[in-house]
Amino acid sequence: MTPTGSSSGLPRAVVLLSGGLDSATTLAIAQAAGFACHCLSIDYGQRHRAELQAANELARTLGACEHRVIRLALNEFGGSALTDPTINVPTDGDQAGIPVTYVPARNTVMLSLALAWAEVLGSRDIFIGVNAVDYSGYPDCRPDYIAAFEKMANLATRAAVEGAVLRLHAPLIDMSKAEIIARGNALGVDFGLTISCYQAAGDGRACGVCDACRLRRAGFIAAGTADPTRYSATPVVNSAAQS
Ligand code: ZN
Repeated sequence: MTPTGSSSGLPRAVVLLSGGLDSATTLAIAQAAGFACHCLSIDYGQRHRAELQAANELARTLGACEHRVIRLALNEFGGSALTDPTINVPTDGDQAGIPVTYVPARNTVMLSLALAWAEVLGSRDIFIGVNAVDYSGYPDCRPDYIAAFEKMANLATRAAVEGAVLRLHAPLIDMSKAEIIARGNALGVDFGLTISCYQAAGDGRACGVCDACRLRRAGFIAAGTADPTRYSATPVVNSAAQS
């Protein structure tokens, strides 16, 4: 255990923490599994930057040993409603295909950063809160993608070549949103701290009408628990017009 152990004696894990409901539950799962969790958030130029502050608070309250924010300006490329203020976040809940909130290659970029940090830390475990049930249809949330990235990671690093096989954990991948909420509640996640909204206000208030808000709200209803989300008084239906 020496190569992967932290000063606490626990094996280290890198946890991608966006500040949303899913990644918060993923962090709680990793903590409960006995890992010393090093949380990583990416400031990629997302319009819902309030999630970064939420991530910091979640890392602290859930007992992570570290939280870092890496800046990587994907908004230099744009190409997504989350990184280009001229593209509206859909609020009608009715889009065909992969929605414009998809950020090109986002999970590959983020997992690559997590992989780099894991190798430096001597960690063999990376956690990501992707979900392929109640989700927006993003291609980099699918089980095949997770398996392929894990395979690539074990070809790509000195650590793996020298025998430290890396495991990529996606514990939520087959869970419904209601199941994720139930698991998080059981593990003591304060969902009131989490921000899922694609166009959350600076103070973290949610629009209530984007895809992320719809999935989240439906999840609380299906789970039969109170929704602690702070919603804007007036639903935000056209974010681009505001920016
Ligand atoms: Zn929203």
